Amino acid sequence: MTKLAPVLSAHWDEKDSFTLEGYKRHGGYKAAEKALAMDPDAVIQLVKDSGLRGRGGAGFPTGMKWGFIPQGDNKDHYLVVNADESEPGTCKDMPLLMANPHVLVEGCIIACHAIRAKHAFIYIRGEVTHVARRMNQAIADAYAAGILGNGIDVVLHVGAGAYICGEETALLDSLEGFRGQPRLRPPFPAIAGLYARPTVVNNVESISAVPAIVMNGAEWYQSMGTEKSKGTTLYSLSGHVANPGQFEAPLGITLREILELAGGVRPGHKLKFWTPGGSSTPLFTDAHLDVPLDYEGVAAAGSMLGTKALQIFDETTCVVRAVLRWTEFYKHESCGKCTPCREGTWWLVQILRDLEEGKGTEADLAKLLDLCDNIMGRSFCGLGDGATSPITSSIKYFRDEYIAHLTNGACPFDPVASTLFVGAGA
Ligand code: SF4
Repeated sequence: MTKLAPVLSAHWDEKDSFTLEGYKRHGGYKAAEKALAMDPDAVIQLVKDSGLRGRGGAGFPTGMKWGFIPQGDNKDHYLVVNADESEPGTCKDMPLLMANPHVLVEGCIIACHAIRAKHAFIYIRGEVTHVARRMNQAIADAYAAGILGNGIDVVLHVGAGAYICGEETALLDSLEGFRGQPRLRPPFPAIAGLYARPTVVNNVESISAVPAIVMNGAEWYQSMGTEKSKGTTLYSLSGHVANPGQFEAPLGITLREILELAGGVRPGHKLKFWTPGGSSTPLFTDAHLDVPLDYEGVAAAGSMLGTKALQIFDETTCVVRAVLRWTEFYKHESCGKCTPCREGTWWLVQILRDLEEGKGTEADLAKLLDLCDNIMGRSFCGLGDGATSPITSSIKYFRDEYIAHLTNGACPFDPVASTLFVGAGA
């Protein structure tokens, strides 16, 4: 069985893992010392050589992103850490910050040094007050210990709670005090980001991975993972599993292996469908249990690794209802800037709601796919595209279940409305 590879999560089970003392006991802030003694370009090269790719969803090489920041331009540079985790099913950054906020502070120091920035901003979701408090305490402790404030400052910014602010340019607008809506690109943040200055925007997990790379070297990191997807990552397992939680493993592990480590699907039930990277990535079924969970493997099988949020659904779940709930989320979170998403997600919900209640005809399925076709690739940002993924993939794999709703005149999983109840205990 493939073993877990705890690097980021190595000491999460220790009572004081989140304190400065707990972090330093395992060599915390030694990587920052080492990096600050290096030439900034050498730090960027090290991260490039490690093969680290962005853990926020897109998988863009982190070192390359840092290398885009123009040097010697006499402008302020900024590091912005995206901690606006809010994709349904995604729960890796918040546990990381609760268990070990100092690794992010240390990663910020190293990244700031590399891109020649004096300020890092951590943009965290407003609802997670307990996480913001813990992060604030870690930053305060780092200042009190003289770790911060010697040329590099870290500021925690608490957002108001909008999914769209996880989109990097909407995040920058929000950070500047404007309504969070995506910006037109170019210019890209590396040229004109926060306050129109060169800015690197990285995910929490990406920046937190950097201290271990600095301490152990690029070759060590390269030795884990697959050919093009290096290192370890946090997979969040949720839903109908015996032991949900975060599992840190080398990229390329399969869901079958993770399920073995997590005690499998809940007793007495079997896997029906799952998301490989959160609700905006196309669904997989039990036919995809052996797909390597790295950037290339998941893409080759028709989905995306995304945030590695593995949401597991067993045979008691109505796929139409699950997709409807996700679509209601995207409709609610649509920022309204572009018509395909603003109007389209509203229409998607209307049609899905009817289908879930067993109203409508097969022609509505065609209309639903047509709507998705008009949103996908025509929206201003990825939210619109992502909203269509669960719909198109669920119709691809579970068309019969959609039809069953129509022939039944109700959801077949509804024990009251349906005479053909197929849900739990049937
Ligand atoms: Fe806003 Fe949706 Fe358009 Fe993105 S796709 S800009 S979230 S309306």
